[in-house]
Amino acid sequence: MKKQPKKGKLIIFSAPSGSGKTTLVRYLLEKPELNLAFSVSVASREKRQGEEHGKDYYFISPEDFKQKIKNNEFVEWEEVYTNSFYGTLKSEIERLQKQGKNIIFDIDVKGGLNIKNQYPDESLAIFVMPPSIDELAQRLKKRKTESSEKIQMRINKAEEELYYAPQFDVILHNNNLDEAKKKAYKIVSEFINQDKK
Ligand code: 5GP
Repeated sequence: MKKQPKKGKLIIFSAPSGSGKTTLVRYLLEKPELNLAFSVSVASREKRQGEEHGKDYYFISPEDFKQKIKNNEFVEWEEVYTNSFYGTLKSEIERLQKQGKNIIFDIDVKGGLNIKNQYPDESLAIFVMPPSIDELAQRLKKRKTESSEKIQMRINKAEEELYYAPQFDVILHNNNLDEAKKKAYKIVSEFINQDKK
């Protein structure tokens, strides 16, 4: 008999910007046996080159974002940077659950803990730990996606976010990307395949 794919788990990746979490999430999404689908968040920031509406984010204006807050459409949302709102729609989780998928989230630290607390039984919250704040600054500069002012804003926030790491289920150190990918695969695969208590 063919084995049914495991479904319905929530895998949360949170970390300071530049820690490599997006790379890890993309890597895991390429593994069909994990049966993962990406939770597309709503964002009010400008679209970067190469990003697609509906794939990377649902890009909307800050005004539309505030309307969705009023309509109670979010499971969680945060003003991650001043006037840049990000949030997970209830309808997005329902959409992916209906497809029979495990859902993977790439969201900020507070949002990650918020989802973990709302879905304590089916979620695994992973904090990706960068080697150091200096290294993080170097990565953000190399990425060249933000102005130096915005980079500084992200570094300040990263320092604050490190304090939340102990509240996560797993801390995944990303000193070496290949090693981190292997560790991430092992952690997620074991969690998805474990039988319910
Ligand atoms: P970026 O602008 O680099 O794409 O994302 C900035 C931060 O917002 C990242 O830490 C990213 O993980 C986070 N983020 C993305 N989507 C969401 C979301 O739906 N909710 C929350 N709370 N944070 C999010």
